[in-house]
Amino acid sequence: MQETNGLGPTIIQKDAEAKNEPVVIQTDVGVKDGQNKCPKCGATDIALNARTGQLRCNYCRYEFNEQQLQGMVTDLTKLQGEIIGSGTQDINNDIQNVVTLKCESCGAEVVIDTNEVTQARCHWCRNTLSINQQIPNGSIPDIVLPFKLTREEAQKLIGDFVGKRKFFAHPKFRQEFTTSNIMGVYFPYMVVDANAHSNYIGKGEHLIRTYTIGSRDHRETRYDADLYQVARDFDITIEGLTIESSLDKLNQKTKDKTNNIINSIMPFDIENSVRWNANYLKGYTSEKRDTNIEQLRPLVDEQIKDVSRFTANKTLKNYDRGVCWESEKLALRGKQWKAAYLPVWIYSYQQKKGDKSILHYVAVNARTKETMGSVPIHMPKLIIMSILVEILGLIVMTLIDIEKISWLFLFWGIIYYFIMYSRYRNNDARHHHEIETKSTMYNLKTIDNFIKRENGLSNSKIRGCNNEKISEQNIENNIIDTIKKNSKIKININNK
Ligand SMILES: [Zn+2]
Ligand SMILES: [Zn+2]
Repeated sequence: MQETNGLGPTIIQKDAEAKNEPVVIQTDVGVKDGQNKCPKCGATDIALNARTGQLRCNYCRYEFNEQQLQGMVTDLTKLQGEIIGSGTQDINNDIQNVVTLKCESCGAEVVIDTNEVTQARCHWCRNTLSINQQIPNGSIPDIVLPFKLTREEAQKLIGDFVGKRKFFAHPKFRQEFTTSNIMGVYFPYMVVDANAHSNYIGKGEHLIRTYTIGSRDHRETRYDADLYQVARDFDITIEGLTIESSLDKLNQKTKDKTNNIINSIMPFDIENSVRWNANYLKGYTSEKRDTNIEQLRPLVDEQIKDVSRFTANKTLKNYDRGVCWESEKLALRGKQWKAAYLPVWIYSYQQKKGDKSILHYVAVNARTKETMGSVPIHMPKLIIMSILVEILGLIVMTLIDIEKISWLFLFWGIIYYFIMYSRYRNNDARHHHEIETKSTMYNLKTIDNFIKRENGLSNSKIRGCNNEKISEQNIENNIIDTIKKNSKIKININNK
């Protein structure tokens, strides 16, 4: 028998990429390090006004925006080969992270450690000096998406989120929780656009009727369905696929941090991002990118396949019993990478459990307001409540005599426990890249050939149903392991 992982053979053809070296688009053309002056009055005290998402001169109150990124491909149907923004360049661990600038006003030397910050004030004349030219250490991205949510707005969202989860919250957490220490953080991401051709061949089933067979004690459900030969062939553009580019946040499986929370508040409105300008970071913290394109490529390729597969699903509504793809092909014509800083308001809480500890996050997307979090649970209380609910369920079960559903009450306590646990901890929350990433399908060709009516099927879905499978999750762990094994970056992280 042919080996199958339920997804059939998926091929990414890399011809275009293998032949050509990536084309690097220099995204910091015309920018300069040092004083970035207000276009109106020439002052250097400039910061983001999160109310408007614009830069504001703190001296004359003039508001303005950095320009949009130039030089990258905007019509994605024309995207060919591999194009990378210069802000995505490989991290060079040997370079000097400390940059010394000469203040244009007073001539003093100002030292900026780009590992930590991208701005500093001149001690002598109080002017702000910025780093805007890219340095190959991952600290300066191509684009930045400004905060558009004030601290007060984020505090309210985080307060409301936790407020709805007080009953089972750990007493120590309830006592210590305060939104006054939330942080505005620019996290590093890679934003990828793609242009590809997809081809899928397989079988699909449409449900005709559902019924039960057997005697009173031994009932089973059966299905009748129409079986079709199905094929889809189309061109696809994918816009703004976004993945974490710090190893720490990329690792969703770690037990000591709830990184999935930060992942789940995607997507961002990347289209509103602007060219890098250090002034956007004033008053906020940022995390530096510490992975390179080559390391992220397998994950990105898997996510592209997921997006394509789910885009095809929009044309498969008739197959309510699912589709089993026997062949999946995706040929990448072009791909484009940008390094980005995206804005997140974050509350974190370290819970100690014996000698272990877990870092809980409540995160707010500082553009869309999407909020997600993990609240530490007071386990004894949840267990006692679940037992009470279980007892109640058993009582109900003996009182009512509806044979068909009475067994349901047998599991009341357990169901209650899991619902509450996931409501507080949200351990399954994640970014649904497969449906939340923008994609456009065109030149669609379809085949839907009726094969036969099938009667008395026992599965509720078609055998080998795989059109809603996500392949990305399998690969994530491997990538992190590989990066950790092979990379110099590991040493860097440990040394911090
Ligand atoms: Zn001004
Ligand atoms: Zn100075």
